[in-house]
Amino acid sequence: MKKFIFPLLVFGTLTFAQKKYVMVIHGGAGTITKANLSPEKEKEYREKLTEALQKGYAEIKNGKSSLDAVSAAIMVMEDSPLFNAGKGAVFTNEGRNELDASIMNGKDQKAGAVAGVTTIKNPILAARAVMDKSEHVMMAGPGAEKFAKEQKLEIVDPKYFWTEKAWNSLQKAKAMESSKKTSQNNKNYPDYFIIDHKFGTVGAVALDKNGNIAAGTSTGGMTNKKYGRIGDSPIIGAGTYANEQVGISGTGWGEFFIRTVASKTAADRMKYLHKPVTEATQESIDEIGKLGGNGGLIALDKEGNVAMPFNTEGMYRGTVTDKGEVEVYIYK
Ligand code: ASP
Repeated sequence: MKKFIFPLLVFGTLTFAQKKYVMVIHGGAGTITKANLSPEKEKEYREKLTEALQKGYAEIKNGKSSLDAVSAAIMVMEDSPLFNAGKGAVFTNEGRNELDASIMNGKDQKAGAVAGVTTIKNPILAARAVMDKSEHVMMAGPGAEKFAKEQKLEIVDPKYFWTEKAWNSLQKAKAMESSKKTSQNNKNYPDYFIIDHKFGTVGAVALDKNGNIAAGTSTGGMTNKKYGRIGDSPIIGAGTYANEQVGISGTGWGEFFIRTVASKTAADRMKYLHKPVTEATQESIDEIGKLGGNGGLIALDKEGNVAMPFNTEGMYRGTVTDKGEVEVYIYK
């Protein structure tokens, strides 16, 4: 009997150890189905996700840090109008683009974030500058913009972020909201958040040659957000988290990620309950789901295992191995 089990076990171990991932990214979760994504659009998304993974991978391969890889991958997606981050960010109720981003380094748990910024071309670079060049962790609004300017980051006219797609989403959300107000079965939560596919936040987690993990997230938030609303993406422990063991980035209905401290809780399940990365992150998504929220998480642990759980129709996501093999996924 033993004779039969042994080779199986060896084989099992070998197959399991074969793939070591060095990067995982997401481009948002939401109502993403084959039915509402044309083949041309699908191709565009796949190509952009691939480009982001390749940029990130090049950094790792050249011996750069996981922080560099995360910034490089996120910048590709921020510069693309396809995603709700940087160019392409969604609009607030007042018709503005207010961006949030954060980044965290696993080894020393240093972190940086910006919230509600309107003129910084690449908010992920501003988050990184807050971490590297200031004594603070989070800066918001005009102060963060002043700091970014001092750090010689690229500043743009707020019009730069305008896209027709995001503008139309705002008009649609507003119309839904006002019809809801006048309708009889008015509920307390804004369900236009769920119906419209406005999720498109971007995030990345990388593992460098020194075994250090970093995670980052960048977003325009949620369409029609009001009163200086800040989501989970710039909040360390909610939308982004990294320690020596794992890096995590989230996307989805931010209020629920904040209330469940989604990323940190997943990391704690690994640290204190010794759960594998897949289980630890799935439980965070389950918790969010139970409360009525939705979204997804990406995670990468120090052994190179990835997890990408989500409870929406789809999540733009992808991975790259230490050998540079790229894979991208969209649907369930
Ligand atoms: N989590 C983001 C927020 O609530 C939105 C998203 O992921 O699309 O601001």
